[in-house]
Amino acid sequence: MIKIIKLKIENEYFAELPLITDNEEPRNRAPGYSGCQNKKNPGIEISSGIKAFISLKNAGDMHIENQEVRKKYFAMHEIEYGRVSGLHQVHSKDIKIVTDKSYGYNDKGDGLITSNKQAVLAVTVADCIPICLYDKGTGVFGVLHSGWRGTGIIENAVNLLKEKYNSKPENIFITIGPGIGSCCYEVSKDLYDKFTTVYGKNTVSIINDKYFIDLKQVNINLLKQFNIENITVIEDCTFCNNLLSSFRRDGKDNFIRMNVSIGMF
Ligand SMILES: [Zn+2]
Repeated sequence: MIKIIKLKIENEYFAELPLITDNEEPRNRAPGYSGCQNKKNPGIEISSGIKAFISLKNAGDMHIENQEVRKKYFAMHEIEYGRVSGLHQVHSKDIKIVTDKSYGYNDKGDGLITSNKQAVLAVTVADCIPICLYDKGTGVFGVLHSGWRGTGIIENAVNLLKEKYNSKPENIFITIGPGIGSCCYEVSKDLYDKFTTVYGKNTVSIINDKYFIDLKQVNINLLKQFNIENITVIEDCTFCNNLLSSFRRDGKDNFIRMNVSIGMF
């Protein structure tokens, strides 16, 4: 079932990207986690279990080199910074596997996957589509940065889940996070034509002689090939929603990178 929801914004720094849509409790909880109250930010409540969050514009630029901003952000979640892994993102379809020995920021790529429950995986976005994956059967989880150039990284991720972790489609939960919407993602006629041919007519539109593509729909179409049905789509457009960062709206000198992270929070 594809569930389309609005981002629920409850504080000024981040919002949750819901992962499980069938009301079942996540099975995998980090040892010793029984839920926590956020002592440093009493207004912010975090419960335990597998969770995903996106930072809002207010939390600052989460560029991989902005260590202080990132540390402050993860401290809000009471996440020890050493648990976090990120990437030097290059708009590729490359996915790295995080083991218990490979935390950190040394790799290039645009997706992270792990079976390590102590790991917190993070990418940054500002219009590109963040995608969170969670396999309820094995506890494996991942996060992807998927812009138009990296479109198809979702296929690599699902293939990895199937081949390396033996994941079953019915156990895989996907959350497609906020990114630029078809309302605002104007592209060249060439790109419009390419998306029409490769991904289907439901991924493009023409309004007032202008060409638009729908990256979220592209990913939904790709997931259907794998018979994955547990898909949650956050409908918010980064360009339209001012609490979110948009490269296109804010420009290259003013945009900030939002952090999208998944793990046992
Ligand atoms: Zn929009």
